[in-house]
Amino acid sequence: MALAISYEDIAAAHRRLQGVAHRTPVIRSQTVNGLTGASVFFKCENFQRMGAFKFRGAYNALVKLTDAQKRLGVCAFSSGNHAQGIALSAQILGMNATIVMPQDSPAIKMAATRAYGAQVISYDRYRDDREAISRQLAHEQGMTLIPPYDHADVMAGQGTAAKELFEETGPLDLLLVCLGGGGLISGCAVAAAALSPGCRVIGVEPKAGNDAQQSKRLGRIVRIDTPRTIADGAQTQALGQLTFPIIDALVSDIVTVSDAELIDAMRFAAARMKIVVEPTGALAMAAALQSKVEIRGLRVGVIISGGNIDIAQLASYLA
Ligand SMILES: *Cc1c(COP(=O)(O)O)cnc(C)c1O
Repeated sequence: MALAISYEDIAAAHRRLQGVAHRTPVIRSQTVNGLTGASVFFKCENFQRMGAFKFRGAYNALVKLTDAQKRLGVCAFSSGNHAQGIALSAQILGMNATIVMPQDSPAIKMAATRAYGAQVISYDRYRDDREAISRQLAHEQGMTLIPPYDHADVMAGQGTAAKELFEETGPLDLLLVCLGGGGLISGCAVAAAALSPGCRVIGVEPKAGNDAQQSKRLGRIVRIDTPRTIADGAQTQALGQLTFPIIDALVSDIVTVSDAELIDAMRFAAARMKIVVEPTGALAMAAALQSKVEIRGLRVGVIISGGNIDIAQLASYLA
């Protein structure tokens, strides 16, 4: 079966994002290089607009809609960052946005989504079917539903993060990418295959919800109950119909990280690198710091996917 996106789709998305999304910095840490024996390049999407890479895919999907679709507005379901990405993109494009969010989403994410002018509708993440709620709303009001990961334009947009990284670093031996539904890693894997052939792409997900690891090993999508982890951006139950075939074909392996290891990585990021990273954003970094993958002697890219966390919550993790 043909993969949902090609490198051309990522290059086209990158042209659309030009001057709209930030080209985020790639930072180094001699401390990390010393600790790991690797040469590590951190792509800092915590500095992206609205604080995470999700802006890339959301904007790429919305800017491609027809004028008629734009007038009817957009609907999305999200645990937070996709919501903000859609809300901000809709605001930039002059569209209405309705976001279906879990009622226990971090306050900062709900507030930011509302501040970008979106209407927020909340649901219970352990009980309700968010996709059904969103689909019905979209249907009733003629809105276009943009899912958080299983959508070709979203995946292509997310892949622009890795495109920028490779353009800056040249070829790498290994790329570590966190994953929930797999939108980011599928885009990054397609970019890696084109720009750094031979670069292994390894996914990192929470230990409490290793559905992608199981799916990769069994060669089919495995669905699990909503995992209880502090990595709220990776509390997904299953990979997507479009993301899984790319992960199956282009990702070498999936490793897992515990919540305690995420907190250690967030503490390291704050204390040593002077950056705020949210739990999900720390997954790939934690895998590098905890030697979940053999990286000694290698040139390694690490995507720091986001930095949206309540400051009081961060303080309580670090205390
Ligand atoms: C959404 C999100 C992820 C997971 O991305 P997928 O495309 O669902 O795999 C990782 N980190 C952050 C910060 C996110 O917002």
